[in-house]
Amino acid sequence: MPAAAPIAIADVETPLTVLAGVGPALREKLAARGLLTLQDLWLHLPRSYEDRTQLTPMSALRAGIAAQTEGRVELVERSFRGRPVLKVVLVDAGNQRLTLRFFHFRAQQVTQFAKGVRVRVFGTPRPGQLGLEIVHPSYRLLDDDEHALSQSLDPVYPEIEGFGAASIRKLIVQALQRLPSEDALELLPSAWLARLRLPSLRQAIVYLHQPPRDANVALLQSGLHPAQRRLALEELLAHQLSLRRQRLALQAEGTRALRGSEGLVSKLKNALPFKLTGAQARVYAQLREDLRQPKPMLRLVQGDVGSGKTVVAAMAALLAIADGRQAALMAPTELLAEQHLANLRAWLEPLGLRVCWLAGKVTGKARTKALDEVASGAAQLVVGTHALMQEGVAFHDLALAIIDEQHRFGVHQRLALREKGRGSIPHQLVMTATPIPRTLAMSAYADLDVSAIDELPPGRTPVTTVVLSSERRPELIDRIHVACAEGRQVYWVCTLIDESDEVQAQAAQTTFEALQDALPSVRVGLVHGRLKAADKQATMLAFKAGELDLLVATTVIEVGVDVPNASLMVIENAERLGLSQLHQLRGRVGRGSAASSCVLLYQSPLGQMARQRLDTLRQTNDGFAIAEKDLELRGPGELLGTRQTGIASFRMADLVRDADLLPQVHALADDLLQTAPVVADGIIQRWIGAAARYASA
Ligand code: ADP
Ligand code: MG
Repeated sequence: MPAAAPIAIADVETPLTVLAGVGPALREKLAARGLLTLQDLWLHLPRSYEDRTQLTPMSALRAGIAAQTEGRVELVERSFRGRPVLKVVLVDAGNQRLTLRFFHFRAQQVTQFAKGVRVRVFGTPRPGQLGLEIVHPSYRLLDDDEHALSQSLDPVYPEIEGFGAASIRKLIVQALQRLPSEDALELLPSAWLARLRLPSLRQAIVYLHQPPRDANVALLQSGLHPAQRRLALEELLAHQLSLRRQRLALQAEGTRALRGSEGLVSKLKNALPFKLTGAQARVYAQLREDLRQPKPMLRLVQGDVGSGKTVVAAMAALLAIADGRQAALMAPTELLAEQHLANLRAWLEPLGLRVCWLAGKVTGKARTKALDEVASGAAQLVVGTHALMQEGVAFHDLALAIIDEQHRFGVHQRLALREKGRGSIPHQLVMTATPIPRTLAMSAYADLDVSAIDELPPGRTPVTTVVLSSERRPELIDRIHVACAEGRQVYWVCTLIDESDEVQAQAAQTTFEALQDALPSVRVGLVHGRLKAADKQATMLAFKAGELDLLVATTVIEVGVDVPNASLMVIENAERLGLSQLHQLRGRVGRGSAASSCVLLYQSPLGQMARQRLDTLRQTNDGFAIAEKDLELRGPGELLGTRQTGIASFRMADLVRDADLLPQVHALADDLLQTAPVVADGIIQRWIGAAARYASA
């Protein structure tokens, strides 16, 4: 097996100029579309198929069902109704008629449809004025003695800008003629393929480009055909191997172990107004163990909202500080970073430690001062946003990088932090409140060890969730009136998906004003992303201090806000948010001893699917169960925030559809990394290519 790898890798890189008709100019043009090598064409798979292996009599055509049929031209009509239209009526042997309609056509096309000419047509009929018609069919004029039908299904390729369908097809046919032999192409151990009952790579590629006439088209369209599974498996494997390689490479470089005393940690524990939960203690012990190793820690800590991740992170930071080194904590939003800053200052400053603040909005003199403290080592803990990763931020001696809410940062941002260590790679601790189903976590975070804080601090009261049509807003406002009169505090969250900060802020402003009018006796505050940090902070503090009863906010409060007395939350347009996001928002209430509730307001009418989603939230408070459901309903992109992580950018694979392959993928990766690293390299190279960061290994 290993001997096969170098051959296959070479083939992967064969440039397209080996194809007839592809010169330097065309090569450039293809390269600009991401098609550089023969392999890129082999893997440019059809998005659907057309069955031209049989003829359907016109009487058997059905609206909406693509088919091939044949007839003779009976009538040609060219008209202008606002725009030119060419209408051709065909009649077949059974004396049935079919209308073809063209809105774009050349003069030559009009003349070729002479009366009586035989035409073979493929397309999807739709009901027209006079029976069925096909708009812009693909068609061919036939001689009287022509009767042959296609022997395989016709591939329909994804469009490549600047290339017609026919030239794409021709290029691919040529590329396929250069497919290496089965053995030369194959990288996966044959024993695995036999066990999984999957075809060889060569068989799979050929099948998908040229499926035989009896192929199961429905299965192909669903993406579950063994030939497709074969490719998905190898692609998932390549990603898995690449992440694992990155991890191995990083760890092989080694770093300085943290072996200092736990004195500071004990002091913090003694000063806390609560006792750590069992889960917190267990995860802290894992971190301590990781940090004692002379290789960089790479650990993801998952914990539901409110499970108390921050204090565990603070304890890890104290281990770095005890060794005379620095720790950094990076959060995805300024507001969340500020919350962390407040907590960490309250915990660390009494121990005589310096916590420094660095965010995008820290500018001028304050920024210079902060940068100095970071560079000189005067700041033992640095808290901030991604501003921490910018150039110009030089640490004196960064030993531990803590990243909160991982799913909002990309893998690449995480990697960028490792460059901030001076002389040695910082240990990495990643924290997320989005519980990721295990198999998915193993794929998305194959480069991280995963631990879970799977227990909430005692004394939390479960949140009762109610789903309510926004038509019942007046009742709800009455209820808020009563709640505030009883001294309870309320969040009102305005959500708008995919709208700019500005539009969000505007919506929140409008709601704020409306609620102020409707509830004159209630003290209402407003926070949104457009406010100055100081104003936001002041409003948050006022709410926390009980000087405000009702806080109108955008989803900026999603993470990090901690007001135990708040016991009612209203979320507008709940039907438009992801379940995990709603769950996180809801986690802002139920932090104190009062019975808490969350009202999910929706715009009627509510679709079946949306109803099912909101019901899930009503029925469970278990973040893991919710994440599973979210994954099932919305796919991994939403769950992982993957526009950044790039995990959804698979060519063939689909993490939800192909989830059942993942255990095999993980086992296969273990096997290959141990027994055939050359093969592993070949697979990474084939699918991920030069972009793979493992290259520095
Ligand atoms: P999250 O995991 O969502 O980041 P936080 O770290 O913000 O949670 O903790 C939520 C709240 O719970 C904070 O007020 C924190 O001080 C408090 N907390 C953390 N650990 C415990 C504990 N063991 N017992 C009681 N309260 C705790
Ligand atoms: Mg948190």
